[in-house]
Amino acid sequence: MKIAVLPGDGIGTEIVAQAVKVLEALDLSFEMETALVGGAAYDAHGHPLPEATLRLAQQADAVLFGAVGDWKYDTLDRPLRPEQAILGLRKHLGLFANFRPAICYEQLVGASSLKPELIAGLDILIIRELTGDIYFGQPRGRRVATDGLFAGAEEAFDTMRYTRPEIERIAHVAFQAARKRSQRVTSVDKANVLETFQFWKDVVSDIGKQYPDVALDHMYVDNAAMQLVREPKKFDVVVTGNMFGDILSDEAAMLTGSIGMLPSASLNATNQGLYEPSHGSAPDIAGKGIANPLATILSAAMMLRYSLKQEAAAQRIEAAVKRVLVQGLRTSDIFSPGTTRVGTAEMGAAVVRALA
Ligand code: NAD
Repeated sequence: MKIAVLPGDGIGTEIVAQAVKVLEALDLSFEMETALVGGAAYDAHGHPLPEATLRLAQQADAVLFGAVGDWKYDTLDRPLRPEQAILGLRKHLGLFANFRPAICYEQLVGASSLKPELIAGLDILIIRELTGDIYFGQPRGRRVATDGLFAGAEEAFDTMRYTRPEIERIAHVAFQAARKRSQRVTSVDKANVLETFQFWKDVVSDIGKQYPDVALDHMYVDNAAMQLVREPKKFDVVVTGNMFGDILSDEAAMLTGSIGMLPSASLNATNQGLYEPSHGSAPDIAGKGIANPLATILSAAMMLRYSLKQEAAAQRIEAAVKRVLVQGLRTSDIFSPGTTRVGTAEMGAAVVRALA
């Protein structure tokens, strides 16, 4: 099992070090190799995704990624900015399925902006299609409108587009994920207005016939956005396109109130994947040793589950994380009176101890 370890920038190095510590404490044999990515790679090699880093990622079974970015790179040309490394990895590895679980831990119910009874026990999985939709539409850019009421005026547009195989493969991913959970999938679309999403709805329904054991329902995206804050526990697996998924996965993640707790996975057709926390490089707290490493540690658990097929080890890590929360250990972002404040490395060490 080969893991490419790409810590990146800001708190990336601090939190990935904790996840590596946890992986090393399991009795499994991994080959882990570290490389530069993002701003750190730009500083050393003049590019956020150097050839050697990309090759390492391509040859690995999975990539454990920290975060990239810093305000100091904001003036660089777009292709050289740290965030381009993630887009490059997605593209070159064909990572089309993004998994974003939103889990509310009992001990952190108070961190949510919703009432405790709405959020306690929340466990939903948003599956976002990652390589199609309007984000990859053509053409783009500004031009002069040739028709309509405002012909002759400046305009810009993006095309929304999905092909049948793109929808089919993400639908299979969602139904298969639902089989491992509570056999329910909600497909989110805007079929009432957009032809692309009528097509989406039809194709997801077709694929659903191959999974008679999984209940499928459809919801318009505006309603889904409302229901997520009104009654989030009515969802289990949610599957949607790239743009709606971008927005809804952030909304769902924030329901739990604790950005430092949320892992994510992006998978390709052969289950090779990139695993990273949902948050960014947090330059405001980088180097202070106070970042929460749990999202990255939980991303490593997802890596064991989805790419390395080590379900038991994944569950061991998730149980260890729950245990440290029960013990009352908290990094600053999830601290509340009556709990014990710990730093990044202490939290990592506590998870390692809790594995036993
Ligand atoms: P951010 O997620 O880095 O930080 C937002 C806030 O959350 C900050 O106050 C930060 O201190 C806090 N925070 C984030 N992670 C935390 C953790 N593990 N523990 C404790 N607190 C945590 O978002 P931002 O400030 O908007 O962006 C900072 C940089 O990160 C930018 O350069 C941005 O482009 C980049 N970014 C990268 C990724 C990625 O690598 N996938 C994702 C989002 C943002």
